[in-house]
Amino acid sequence: MRCVKCGQKAVINMRPHKLALCQDHFLEWIPAQTERFIEKYRMFSLQERVLVAVSGGKDSLSLWDILVRLGYQADGLYICLGIDGGFGYSDQSQRLTEKFALERGLRLHVVDVAKEYGETIIQIAGRTHRGFEKTCSVCGLTKRHIMNRTARQGGYHVLVTGHNLDDEAATLLSNTLNWSPGYLVRQSPVLEADQPGLVRKAKPLCRIYERDMAAYALLRGIEYVYEECPYAVGSNTIFYKGLLNQLEAQRPGAKLSFYLSFLQAKAGGLFAPQADQEIDRLHTCPSCGQPTTAPGDCAFCRMMAKPVQGSAPPGL
Ligand code: SF4
Ligand SMILES: [Zn+2]
Ligand SMILES: [Zn+2]
Repeated sequence: MRCVKCGQKAVINMRPHKLALCQDHFLEWIPAQTERFIEKYRMFSLQERVLVAVSGGKDSLSLWDILVRLGYQADGLYICLGIDGGFGYSDQSQRLTEKFALERGLRLHVVDVAKEYGETIIQIAGRTHRGFEKTCSVCGLTKRHIMNRTARQGGYHVLVTGHNLDDEAATLLSNTLNWSPGYLVRQSPVLEADQPGLVRKAKPLCRIYERDMAAYALLRGIEYVYEECPYAVGSNTIFYKGLLNQLEAQRPGAKLSFYLSFLQAKAGGLFAPQADQEIDRLHTCPSCGQPTTAPGDCAFCRMMAKPVQGSAPPGL
């Protein structure tokens, strides 16, 4: 197979785009696409300061690499969760993220949950009702809180994450199967900071296939953690991704069209903003200043303030 741009040997054939490219043209194409989506969805400008949430995985490290190549002012944020999983998941992720930043002279903020709050995610999960068998719920809440706080304190205009098309399509499938109106209204390539205490959030890779991001990381020589977080095993997201992969194998482009049709339908007014009932109930948490729907303190501040005895989840 030949590159459609220069006729050299192609390294990738992207069936949904009917596009085969050589290494050089593929490594140009991914940043060009990313830039197009940043502009199309008005995510951020070259003058704004961007904070990239990096996990040590292929998507977030590649996103950071792409943004720097495109000339954006992008710093990184790594949150150490203290998850081991028998192979030192957090240690490996932190080491590779720090190496990535050091080699490129990039600024990286590191927040260690255990050092900052005196407990790892697993320990917090072990003592809270939210965490009992729901480590991901504790983890998600903690990460969202720290990401927003670091972005605010650091004066960043926008916080970006490495969610790719497969992540977004799986989330959309889940939200659709459950008909979750609030989640459907809020699922978007960019979320404006429309409440005091919030920073804008954006997902510049939301239209790029996971397979293409893996190829980008590999061809750019980016070292990343191959293993998933041990708590992701058996998750709904992985199950929905599997279903969508079966669909994609039979109908190339199905994931992309599912996601893009949703964005088009939303832009056309299919989901009324009133469907998001949480918006009306938002107020500022008196302890941390971030918006919350809970009465009084936000869920994160309550989780950290009130130890609740519960069975610890299976040790990982
Ligand atoms: S899989 Fe769950 S525990 Fe692991 S990083 Fe994701 S949210 Fe956190
Ligand atoms: Zn080429
Ligand atoms: Zn709070």
